[in-house]
Amino acid sequence: MPIYEFKCKKCDNTFEVLFLSGSDKPAVACPSCKSKKAERLMSKFGGKIGNTSSAGCSSCAATSCGPS
Ligand SMILES: [Zn+2]
Repeated sequence: MPIYEFKCKKCDNTFEVLFLSGSDKPAVACPSCKSKKAERLMSKFGGKIGNTSSAGCSSCAATSCGPS
């Protein structure tokens, strides 16, 4: 089940909302101030793509390149 992170536009509180499968978007209300003016933040999941620290040459982008 996906968990979305929201940020309240009124009090800047961030909170997570669990979306149950099979239901439409529930009304999201800030648990702190009960405001419904919350915006969805980018998901935490899938943000680690594009790791450049893996093995390979940093200047020519070839994985077989190395000091010789
Ligand atoms: Zn709030």
